[in-house]
Amino acid sequence: MESLIHDWDGECVIVRYDTAAHAWMFIAIHDRTLGMALGGCRFKVYTSPREALRDALRLARGMTYKWAAVELPFGGGKAVVAPMRALDAAQRESLLLRFGDILESLAGLYGTGIDLGTTPADMNIIGRRARWVFGRTPEEGGSGDPGPWTARGVYAGLQAACAHVFNGSALAARTVLVQGTGSVGAPLARRLAVDGARVLIADAIPARVKALAEEIGADVVMPESVYSTPCDVFAPCAIGGILNQRSIPRLECRIVAGSANNQLERDEDAELLHGRGILYVPDFVINAGGAIAHASLEVMRWTEEETAKRIDRIRNMVAEILELSADAGESPLHEATRRSERVLEDARAAKRKGSVDASEVAR
Ligand code: NAD
Repeated sequence: MESLIHDWDGECVIVRYDTAAHAWMFIAIHDRTLGMALGGCRFKVYTSPREALRDALRLARGMTYKWAAVELPFGGGKAVVAPMRALDAAQRESLLLRFGDILESLAGLYGTGIDLGTTPADMNIIGRRARWVFGRTPEEGGSGDPGPWTARGVYAGLQAACAHVFNGSALAARTVLVQGTGSVGAPLARRLAVDGARVLIADAIPARVKALAEEIGADVVMPESVYSTPCDVFAPCAIGGILNQRSIPRLECRIVAGSANNQLERDEDAELLHGRGILYVPDFVINAGGAIAHASLEVMRWTEEETAKRIDRIRNMVAEILELSADAGESPLHEATRRSERVLEDARAAKRKGSVDASEVAR
């Protein structure tokens, strides 16, 4: 864990070991140049606390780049609550309350929301102890599950990617394989089916994938066959780290574009995809819809219509990134990263100028 923190470029990590639930809690604050750190809370049993910390650090960094990509005034942060074994409902609730106590003690340094393993009901629980909680149920004043908003943004990004690769944004003629049919994957698959795309779906939970397949007329792919199944677009909407030296040589698709965070095991894996002629749409750009929704509906108080418009701008953003990276003959990851870094650098420069101006006024 020491080496992970040593090699990380973020601001700080808050660590708590919760003895009652045998759980580790990590809150990683990566960069607050643009505003308070805001990012979801992941709740998951990991093989080791090191893996949980690693996830927190990478996810927090991804949030910094995501907020910068969509130019909203928030910083990168993420929480991981990692019990060492499965908890019953009562143990889970009391652990979430204690997480809420830590959050409240941070006094606005970091705001939390939904991520893998947490729900709007969990946000209600955390919100009993803390302010700065987003994604509560609508009855409790929150904007609820961000999954459908994220799916909307992924769909917009898919249209841009298809227009780029196939000279036409229509998804009707395409075969799209959606890995993971949860909060994001299911609404995405539904929307693609309505468009007339051929939809292939896979999920680790057989009953879930079967029910969705029957509902929308999709074909089911076994989880272990996902990487070698021919398709036009592979949309990873389950877990991170799935694009790596083992999976990339097996891929039979032209585009990889989906919601999962940290899809690349290492940044260098973007080059492997590029080398194989597979277009990779950077995850932190295409999956920003849920973050935009949390922020716009609950902080900026925009209407749903304004929020949808802002999320649909992901289409143009992806189109621009793909065009510039094609001109430069490089993976879209480089252009996407540079864009976010430019936004951060401009904000840092404006802050520096602001403090110089303030000191001149004081003199
Ligand atoms: P979810 O938990 O609702 O759904 C994930 C689904 O993936 C589950 O049905 C699960 O059974 C399935 N799954 C897990 N491992 C799998 C595997 N190896 N093969 C096939 N299926 C598998 O999660 P979600 O909210 O839909 O999020 C999906 C991904 O998108 C996550 O990586 C999340 O971090 C990312 N993301 C989500 C949002 C959001 O708004 N929910 C926003 C940005 C990014």
